Amino acid sequence: MKLLIMGRPGAGKGTQAVNIKEYFNIPHISTGDMFRAAIKNQTKLGMLAKSYMDQGALVPDEVTIGIVEERLLEADCKDGFLLDGFPRTIAQAEALDKFLNENGIKLDAVLDVNVPVEILVRRMVGRRVCKGCGATYHVEFNAPKVEGVCDNCNTQLIQRADDTEATAVNRLQVYDNQTAPLLEFYSKQNILKTVNGDQSLSKVFEDIKVVLGA
Ligand code: ADP
Ligand code: ADP
Ligand code: ZN
Repeated sequence: MKLLIMGRPGAGKGTQAVNIKEYFNIPHISTGDMFRAAIKNQTKLGMLAKSYMDQGALVPDEVTIGIVEERLLEADCKDGFLLDGFPRTIAQAEALDKFLNENGIKLDAVLDVNVPVEILVRRMVGRRVCKGCGATYHVEFNAPKVEGVCDNCNTQLIQRADDTEATAVNRLQVYDNQTAPLLEFYSKQNILKTVNGDQSLSKVFEDIKVVLGA
């Protein structure tokens, strides 16, 4: 399975990506996670990415396209992959198309997790992530068994620096301006599959399996 997962910030891409990755046994490639890892390791890429991410703006295309192409050439992507949070601009989508064509790779589907914009700020502001294993929780909608502690690895949960209300609002605007046009781009290629993301976590995954015919 060669898949993209799209959706507004907070739509549940990362949450569903964990299910999809396990179900199909494919690597989950999240550009957001790659940038956060670079920030943690204080690399040059991390410092650059942070200056954009803290504003809720997009990291420049050249940088982002480069790291994704490098990652897709690794051996574990040979039989499938799930790209999450990439592409986010038309330039990224065109670069990805070119790269896939040149390497004889064809996408099976582009999943769009559709969630009304009104509920997304609450999803982002309540999001908590595990510093240890990367698991994602929500203080109201998907709370850990013990407040502030990861169910999987007992590590303390943190709030992402860009999950403040002001930055969340900004990211939703950036999505509408720069990322929403990709839906038409993939719809024209007849590979866009929309699922309703405003349902329970398990129902969203059931619907994903249905649209993928899995
Ligand atoms: P994205 O990767 O699209 O930004 P996440 O998967 O991190 O989104 O989800 C954003 C927040 O919303 C997280 O706190 C997550 O636990 C919560 N969440 C995800 N899916 C649902 C859902 N179907 N219903 C309610 N909350 C959800
Ligand atoms: P969300 O869960 O809100 O969709 P991500 O973890 O996917 O967030 O992305 C967090 C931030 O990382 C974005 O706001 C942006 O600054 C940066 N980023 C992630 N993916 C890309 C991309 N494809 N192009 C540019 N910037 C990106
Ligand atoms: Zn954990």
